[in-house]
Amino acid sequence: DRLSNDFQFIDVGREDPKKRPLRVRKTQFVEIHEQFKPEEASEQSHRCLECGNPYCEWKCPVHNFIPNWLKLVSEGNILEAAELSHQTNTLPEVCGRVCPQDRLCEGACTLNDGFGAVTIGNVEKYITDTAFAMGWRPDLSNVVPTGKRVAIIGAGPAGLGCADVLARAGVSPVVFDRYPEIGGLLTFGIPEFKLEKSVLSRRREIFEGMGIEFRLNTEIGKDVSIDELLAEYDAVFMGMGTYTYMKGGFPGEDLPGVYDALDFLIANVNRNLGFEKSPQDFVDMKGKKVVVLGGGDTAMDCNRTSIRQGATSVACAYRRDEANMPGSRKEVKNAKDEGVKFLFNRQPIAIVGEDRVEGVKVVETRLGEPDARGRRSPEPIPGSEEVLPADAVIIAFGFRPSPADWFAGKQVDTDSQGRVVAPEAGQYKFQTSNPKIFAGGDMVRGSDLVVTAIWEGRQAAEGILDYLEL
Ligand code: FAD
Ligand code: SF4
Repeated sequence: DRLSNDFQFIDVGREDPKKRPLRVRKTQFVEIHEQFKPEEASEQSHRCLECGNPYCEWKCPVHNFIPNWLKLVSEGNILEAAELSHQTNTLPEVCGRVCPQDRLCEGACTLNDGFGAVTIGNVEKYITDTAFAMGWRPDLSNVVPTGKRVAIIGAGPAGLGCADVLARAGVSPVVFDRYPEIGGLLTFGIPEFKLEKSVLSRRREIFEGMGIEFRLNTEIGKDVSIDELLAEYDAVFMGMGTYTYMKGGFPGEDLPGVYDALDFLIANVNRNLGFEKSPQDFVDMKGKKVVVLGGGDTAMDCNRTSIRQGATSVACAYRRDEANMPGSRKEVKNAKDEGVKFLFNRQPIAIVGEDRVEGVKVVETRLGEPDARGRRSPEPIPGSEEVLPADAVIIAFGFRPSPADWFAGKQVDTDSQGRVVAPEAGQYKFQTSNPKIFAGGDMVRGSDLVVTAIWEGRQAAEGILDYLEL
């Protein structure tokens, strides 16, 4: 019998769910993976060795009970798996889709050494998607209301993680966001081919069912002041992300035809979701030669969005080699499969053009000595300059913190890089220097990952519960 075969990993190889054909992938904003069939999910889950050293759990930033829910799925026990998976993760179906598993859980799987890691991410997504389709909902019937209310600024993964834990502890969270939908960068950043937007609208309904209130299209500091929140609520959590674009600092960056990555991606989402205010906001790459500068997840998303919009060519220039790219391996592969041409070891030094962009001047690099953080920095090779022809250039160098102008007035300290100081090891986890204000996610750690933002939001909620003596 299959379930008694402890060596399933030898007989059954690692299989991810099928990808849609390239023809469809390259033209449509739909997720590229199909869903597992129940027998596939069970078979793949049963490959878990139950090795007794769940490195996967430790490497997973929210410490999911991975081997336990894999066992439940292998037995076909989806609803129990969903219960268990929600004990540690606020958005398991999102993490299953967008985590860089090769660097996290799957990279640490004992089977990753030759046999192929268990498909942890795709099973995690399968559990929640299937449980929701079966009508399962988080059960908060035993929760006793405390009468306390907490204001949460930002409906990104950090804010949602915080709201989830508070709601389950009987505290009423009210989540404010300046955007018209929840999710933060999950909705207004990460494109649909990685994460379809119906996933977030379904989540909003689930959260509302749990008693979480959302006040969307509401910016704190403009529509509602921080003083009003501090007066009206028992505590405030800030999960506002990082939104200052990093620049290259080279000539030509302001030429027409040069775009910031997030502006380009948001304009695309706004059109697809019907949130577009004016057709002029849309950036159309149809028929254009596009050059994307950068090597992270944001750059990959710009590459693949340009392909789907019908660009004639998409080239991605990155200043280090492929092994040193910060982006998720699976997304680099997807981009290559979809036709993106990578130019490694190329550092941009200028954007050239008369009245608008005509090309990017790059210089070849080789990797020098490791810097203070152990990363080898690229050094230009003299005389290797060339111009890559371009009708449009997208700058995807990442983001720096964007402290609000009221931080100082409210005694919210920031560090030299502009990150809010809210230590995990403080008296109350993730409390800022203002005792009533907590913070987590990108604005505390700098731009990072969805799953680390969820973790910090959840931990901050525990800090808030302790602070409120609950
Ligand atoms: P955010 O997601 O930025 O959410 C902050 C929210 O706060 C926003 O909704 C914003 O509108 C709101 N807000 C800010 N100020 C105010 C205010 N004054 N009033 C009201 N609301 C306010 N990570 C991965 O793990 N995998 C990926 O594949 C991946 N791809 C990415 C692709 C792109 C293009 C980008 C930009 C990032 C990607 N990331 C990815 C990183 C990930 O999205 C972030 O690390 C994560 O979303 C951070 O969560 P957060 O809650 O801290 O902030
Ligand atoms: Fe892996 Fe991310 Fe899921 Fe953790 S949350 S198990 S790292 S996919």
